Amino acid sequence: MSLREIFNRKQVFSYEVFPPRKNAGIDSVCETIKELKKLNPDFISVTYGAIGARNNTDTFKIASLIKSYGIESITHLPCLELKKEEVLLKLEELRKLGINNILALRGDKPEDGYRKGDFKYASDLITFIKEHGDFNIIAACYPEKHSDSKNIVEDVKSLKIKVDAGANQLITQLFLDNDYFYAFKERCELADINVPIEAGIMPVVNKRQIEKMTSFCKVETPKKFLKMMNRYEHNKIAMRDAGIAYAIDQIVDLITQGVDGIHLYTMNNPYVAKRIHEAINNLLLDKTEFLKEA
Ligand code: FAD
Repeated sequence: MSLREIFNRKQVFSYEVFPPRKNAGIDSVCETIKELKKLNPDFISVTYGAIGARNNTDTFKIASLIKSYGIESITHLPCLELKKEEVLLKLEELRKLGINNILALRGDKPEDGYRKGDFKYASDLITFIKEHGDFNIIAACYPEKHSDSKNIVEDVKSLKIKVDAGANQLITQLFLDNDYFYAFKERCELADINVPIEAGIMPVVNKRQIEKMTSFCKVETPKKFLKMMNRYEHNKIAMRDAGIAYAIDQIVDLITQGVDGIHLYTMNNPYVAKRIHEAINNLLLDKTEFLKEA
């Protein structure tokens, strides 16, 4: 089923996985995917060299593996270092693998420098892909604005360009305060950005991980979240459970407010994904039931 159809039918629940680091082989990710399959995911996306890492060699392979398990997959594709000919080769590879969904990105700038490609912004990549194939394009968005944007007006204008270029769905960067998401949704409505927006939620299971993420992504850490981390940072199990509870609280609120979907950043931890799925699965709106009732 196409992603568009999935979004039309229900509040979506999807997952993100990343390729193993340093050529560790994809066996561990296979196990993660097998576990996630039990949660009946609407789709799973696979990162490509995220947070400046260059672990991308297995991205397409993993996206294809996900499809072989009967689950819709999305491959991330950052363009920062890519030449047009390279993108064409990648599109050909994706066609052969039967992968139709691409999360088109500019990419994080690696700290140790990078080779300049042919694309300045994600919207340039989206336009190029649209000219060269019939792919479903997804794009990234930032409830607290992207750190490169001077202000939220500039940020939403760039997002509008990206959607007009051909992005059919959006997935947000992680946020820890839902009010940022609701304010962002209002800005999108004002700017006539009408595609489904999935809320990206990261369950936080250790303090170091979230400190790294929030400082890298420039995401605000609410006071109550900070208190929770400080209280449980030396108790691994308590920290994990508190992180899961915090994510569930965010998700219940988002679902109740009618969010189009939740995209869970699993950090390749199926146990955490399972706990969250169990807590919220019965809450997701089935739009086909809703239509039947009407
Ligand atoms: P863009 O949309 O190009 O935006 C970048 C900046 O340029 C913004 O400030 C924007 O306002 C501005 N801008 C955009 N278009 C224009 C324009 N036409 N004119 C003027 N200004 C403009 N990174 C990876 O490397 N690999 C991954 O797998 C990955 N997965 C991600 C998944 C999600 C859901 C998210 C939210 C991010 C992900 N990232 C990933 C991170 C992403 O690559 C970075 O946030 C990157 O810095 C910006 O990418 P973008 O596609 O949003 O860029």
